[in-house]
Amino acid sequence: MYEKQVEQLVVLQKVDDDILLLEAEIDQAPKDVAALESRHASLEKRKEQLEEKLALLKEQQKKLEFEIEEDGVKVKKSKSKLMLVGTTKEYHAMMREMDSLEKLNRLREEEKITVLEETTRQNEMYEENNTKIEALNVELGEKRVGLKAKLTSAQSKLDKLNRQRGKCGLVVPAPILGRYEFIRSRLAHPVIVPVIDSFCTGCNIMIPPQVYNSLQEGKQIISCPNCQRLTYWIPSEPEPEPVKPEKPKRASKAKKAVKK
Ligand SMILES: [Zn+2]
Repeated sequence: MYEKQVEQLVVLQKVDDDILLLEAEIDQAPKDVAALESRHASLEKRKEQLEEKLALLKEQQKKLEFEIEEDGVKVKKSKSKLMLVGTTKEYHAMMREMDSLEKLNRLREEEKITVLEETTRQNEMYEENNTKIEALNVELGEKRVGLKAKLTSAQSKLDKLNRQRGKCGLVVPAPILGRYEFIRSRLAHPVIVPVIDSFCTGCNIMIPPQVYNSLQEGKQIISCPNCQRLTYWIPSEPEPEPVKPEKPKRASKAKKAVKK
């Protein structure tokens, strides 16, 4: 009876560990997707900013091209009129005007080159950003599908574990189960620990000889006087056991037992 109880408590602990792991997994899974979504949002924002910048550059380029064209026409007109002017004074004035217009246009051409270079640079960043967005979209799509599957599978595993937990509860007497739950809710993992060489493996403190003796008798489940964890005794030098061909206690069998 005692051994069965210890065994079931150890199984219960394993089940509870698995439950904790699954709950952490269920808790973490949506966060992974959320992190990707927030990265996606910031890339989309960057995309908007780059689009604004590119539109601005395009406007600048058009304005420059318009001004270059306009003043170019003015220069051409002046050139054709140059032969028609009467006085030298007028001729020089016209030449000066043409010079200043041409000089202005040369500056504009230089500015246009700068604008075009900047456009190329911004376009590269825009494309790079788009590539990132596309890759993230693929990853996000996969993660969302994966998340759904993960949650479904984790939930069904969790249901299974909870059923298994219920079964363990049937074997362990209510007061001991109550103590187990109490310790579990208050202490760091684990709850039930072996005592080896009269040391509690939960807190690494020596068990008093009297308590150790009754523990070795193996009649009831005893708490460690120091950490209150449930304990069971394991001989320090286990006798060499004959090699068993197949151990009956295997995970696959345990799972099958739960299904029934
Ligand atoms: Zn202890």
